[in-house]
Amino acid sequence: MSARNNLRCVLDLLMERLIIIGSGCAGLTAAIYAARANLSPLVLEGRHPGGQLSTTTLVENYPGFPEGIDGPQLILNMHKQAEKFGARFSYAEATDFDASNRHIRIKSDDEWLETEAVIIASGASARYLGLENEEKLIGHGLTSCATCDGAFYKNVPVCVVGGGDSAAEESLFLTRFASKVYLIHRRDTMRASKIMQARVFANKKIEPVWNTVVTEYIPDENGEMRAVRLRNVKTSEEQELAVACVFVAIGHDPNTKAYRGKLEMDGDGYLIMKNLVESRHPGVFVAGDVADRVYKQAVTAAGSGCAAAMDAEKYLSAVESSK
Ligand code: NAP
Repeated sequence: MSARNNLRCVLDLLMERLIIIGSGCAGLTAAIYAARANLSPLVLEGRHPGGQLSTTTLVENYPGFPEGIDGPQLILNMHKQAEKFGARFSYAEATDFDASNRHIRIKSDDEWLETEAVIIASGASARYLGLENEEKLIGHGLTSCATCDGAFYKNVPVCVVGGGDSAAEESLFLTRFASKVYLIHRRDTMRASKIMQARVFANKKIEPVWNTVVTEYIPDENGEMRAVRLRNVKTSEEQELAVACVFVAIGHDPNTKAYRGKLEMDGDGYLIMKNLVESRHPGVFVAGDVADRVYKQAVTAAGSGCAAAMDAEKYLSAVESSK
């Protein structure tokens, strides 16, 4: 065998066939399907393994669990299932990306990995209001995760900002701890599902504050949240509301920073797709909330993870048979 062929064999050995970026519902479902197709995928779990389900409570709408299932347990089950079929996991995060050659290069912490195909399932991150002192107050009475931080606020008033299912879910969860939960929404109707709205309205501890936005966070002398300034968008009336914590639940932005300038994306950071799970770049597949503006459900994320793995498998077969 020539030196050149030897080198090629070594490079082929170092080359991954499929890397999956993200370990939420989409990434793990892709890992289950890809592992069962003998692709031995490498899953880069990222800094927040398990994605959004790992910080939620009871999931009541994932088919197959009539009594509901805890989000973290559902994720753990998917992880075990993927591992059982041969998926490999690394806690590393994808921080940079190079798709300028046929082989895709992914910077994972300090090293560059090379792969034939990738499934980007890096999910989405909670959006904040963009008010003054926001960065400083996160963790000091400002958060986007009631399941993570709710228990710190026992017998004190708190508020939730938003009018979707997340805001409803967080408000209901917080009633276990807080003395009062103000639900601050910029309109006078919620976009949350009817069943969640009914639960919110039936709960005496939750007080909706309609047509209202938060205009300022007011910290105490120790830098902890003490109150918020509110403005009624209809009357322009302002008021100060004493709360020990603000839970922001106003949606999410796709985690696509690592791909900026490398893959085509729109102004909101969503990757531009060729079809359901295929980006415009050969070998780059996308699944879950990172590409979903509309549905954002655990089950749709899982479905797109499955589709991405199946399409990636077809792509790899075609590439490998053309060698
Ligand atoms: P969402 O449905 O996009 O709702 C975001 C809410 O925040 C909206 O009410 C929106 O107001 C408000 N908002 C957005 N930007 C704002 C701003 N700058 N200032 C003040 N308010 C702002 O997001 P989500 O609640 O996170 O839900 C996302 C998806 O996950 C949805 O499909 C939801 O069904 C799903 N989800 C489901 C469950 C469940 O089934 N249990 C739980 C959580 C999430 P407007 O209404 O005025 O636009």
